[in-house]
Amino acid sequence: MPSSNSCYVGVDLGGTTIKFALIDNDGEVLQRSRSQTDGEDGHDAVLERMIAGAREIVGLAEPDQVIRAIGVAAPGVLDMDGGYTIFLPNLPGDWPMVPVGPRMTEALGLPVYLINDVRAFTVAELEIGAAKGVQTALCYAIGTGIGGGIVAHGRVNMGLGGAGGELGHMVVNTNGPHCGCGNRGCAEAYAAGPAIIGEANRLIVMGETTTLREMIGDDLNKMTPELVERAAADGDPIARQVLDYAGFHMGIAVANAISALAPNVVVLGGGVLKPYGYYWSQIERSAREHCHVTEIDKIEFLPAKLSFEAGVVGAALWAKTAYEAREEG
Ligand SMILES: [Zn+2]
Repeated sequence: MPSSNSCYVGVDLGGTTIKFALIDNDGEVLQRSRSQTDGEDGHDAVLERMIAGAREIVGLAEPDQVIRAIGVAAPGVLDMDGGYTIFLPNLPGDWPMVPVGPRMTEALGLPVYLINDVRAFTVAELEIGAAKGVQTALCYAIGTGIGGGIVAHGRVNMGLGGAGGELGHMVVNTNGPHCGCGNRGCAEAYAAGPAIIGEANRLIVMGETTTLREMIGDDLNKMTPELVERAAADGDPIARQVLDYAGFHMGIAVANAISALAPNVVVLGGGVLKPYGYYWSQIERSAREHCHVTEIDKIEFLPAKLSFEAGVVGAALWAKTAYEAREEG
C-alpha cells in the first residue's frame, strides 16, 4: 500500500484556465497554481502548458512527499483507458484523439489518469465533500451547462467510457428547446445559465415590468443568472417566473434520477446556483413534488462543498483512487 506521505497532482483543463493542485493522501491541498488555457493556440500548445504547470507543481513538493500519480479532468468525452481525449466541445479544435495521458507520462514520468470534469467534481464531493461516506448520491453542477455524477455502492459510477451520470441531459419535454448536445428538451436547455439569461431577456424584450431592466442598465448583454437570483430573492415577480420555470424543469430531471436511484443525498453545486437560494428552492420543490414512490422526505438536498476547486481536487483524488486500485492489482 502507498505510504501516508503519498501525494497526487490534479490538473483541471477548463475553457479559460488550467488549474493545478498538489494534494496529500487525505485530499488536503498543499499547493495550487493556474495558467491561461488559450485554447485557440491549438491542443499541442495547451498540452505543453499542462505539462509545464504539472512539472512546476511537482517541483514544489517537499523532499519527503512522494508523488504517485497525476489526474487530469477535462470537459468532455474521453478514452479513460488509453488516456486520450475524444471530444471536448468547450475548447477550440475539438481535441480528437489527443494522447494527453501518454504525452504527460512521457514528459513527467508519472502515471496519468483522465476523468471527465464533472465526474471529478463527483469524486471530490464523495471523498471529502457533501457526499462523504454516503452509499448512494446524485451530484449536479449547474453552470454554463449541467453536469452530473452518480454515486452508487459508495463509488462514482463511471459507466461506459466514463459517460455515466450525464444528469443534465435527461429529457424533461420531448418538444422542448434544443440542447447543445443535439437533443431536444434536456433539463440543461431549461435550467443552465444560458437558458436563464435567455428567458429573462425574452421577457424584458416582451415588455414585462421588472427590476432586472434597471439592474442591467437596459443592456441585455449584462444579464447574468446571479442578477436573476438576486431580483427573485427581492421578490421581483418576473425574475421569480424565470427561475420557477427553470427550477420546475430541473426538478423533474432530479425527480427522475431520484426514482432511479433512491439516493441518500442530492448534492447541488455549480456557479449558477446559490446554496438554499430562490432558484435552489424551486428545484428542490419541483423534485420533491414529482417523486411519489421514493421516500422523498428522507432524502437531503445539500450544497456542494468544494465549489471552484472541485474539478482539480477531484482530478487529484481520482489519480489516488486509480493508483491505489492499480497497486492492489
Ligand atoms: Zn442535452
